[in-house]
Order: sequence, then C-alpha cells, then structure tokens
Amino acid sequence: MNFPQSLIDGYQTFRKEQYEPLAKRYATFAEGQNPDTLVIACADSRVDPTTIFTAGPGEIFVMRNVAALVPPYQPDGGLHGASAGLEFAVTALNVSNIVVMGHGLCGGVNACLSKTEGSSAGEFIDPWVELAAPARAAVNRELPDGNPEQRQRLGEYRTIQVSLDNIRTFPFVANRLEKGDLSLFGVWYSVYEGDLRLLDPDTGDFNLLDA
Ligand SMILES: [Zn+2]
Repeated sequence: MNFPQSLIDGYQTFRKEQYEPLAKRYATFAEGQNPDTLVIACADSRVDPTTIFTAGPGEIFVMRNVAALVPPYQPDGGLHGASAGLEFAVTALNVSNIVVMGHGLCGGVNACLSKTEGSSAGEFIDPWVELAAPARAAVNRELPDGNPEQRQRLGEYRTIQVSLDNIRTFPFVANRLEKGDLSLFGVWYSVYEGDLRLLDPDTGDFNLLDA
C-alpha cells in the first residue's frame, strides 16, 4: 500500500512554493490562530473555500461536511461534529462572521430532495441530509412543477437558509447576534461557472457578486 504519489507531489510543491517563502509567517502559528470568519461548506471536492476566497493559512476557519449542514442546537450528549466546530469557532476563536456556503450540483441536497419511501443514499447520509427536510418542503411549495434543475437550485438555496436558521438556535450564537458581535451570511457557488451568489436575507434571493 503506497501513499498516493499525487499527494507526495503536491506536498513537495507546497513546501517549496508556499511554505518556504512564508516560513516566518508560519512560525507565528505556534502562538495560535486568529481567523475572523468561519466558513461552513460542503465536502464536495470542487468547492474549496480557501481556493474560492484566496485565503492563506490562518485566515479562515473552515468546516466541511455533506451539504454544508448544521443541525439545530441539541444538547443531548450525542456526537455533534458540526455543532462542536461551530462552538469552537464562536466561543473560542470569537469569529465575527459565519458564512454558510452551498453549491451547484450538490449531491447531498439532491439526496434529500429525491428521497422517496424505501430509497436510501446511505446509512449515515440519510438521517444527515434529512436535516434539509425544510428545504425540500420549501421546494415542493415554491416550485411544485419546476424542472429538476430549477428544483435542485432552489433546494441548494433553501438548504443554506436551513443551516443559517439552525445556527441561530445555538445560545452562544443568539447571544452574540443580539449584541451585534456576529454576522451570518449565506453564499452559493456555481462549481463550473465560478459564480458566487450572496443571500439577501430580506428577500431570500441569491444575488450575483461582482467578479
Ligand atoms: Zn455538496
């Protein structure tokens, strides 16, 4: 069993082209991290927040999972990875911004939208993407006769809003929002066109950002 050569090559390029020119900056990382923004994104390999935002190491705190989902606040002793990451970013790092980043062609959103009686995307995927059930309900309500592409896009938009709604249920988030110490944003990235759209919380529209 060999460690993948593509990873070895990539590491060697990183070491030479990125680490060495910035070695002094990397040395400051021993003192800790101080990112100002938490980005919650999908694990999809085509949607890398540090690439899309041209962020260097130490600049944004990134949490990725299937469909960029965050569950609601649920202090039940369960294993809540997304909630733990959110808690750390907000209470320990004191980030000022939280950005939920959804994307086009999201398989996780599709799994939730296309869920039918007896179908399964996977033992762990099914209950996880079911967190986006309110987004599925919104699509069925707003676009009952939409074509699959329109329904998928709206599902991606509404899933971002579901995560934002759930994030607001965490007391440490609500507390900071009330004090004006934290801002929440939703963005959608289009995978092959490279477009980024920003959620207008008043209208629910996702408006194209200037490129
Ligand atoms: Zn995705």
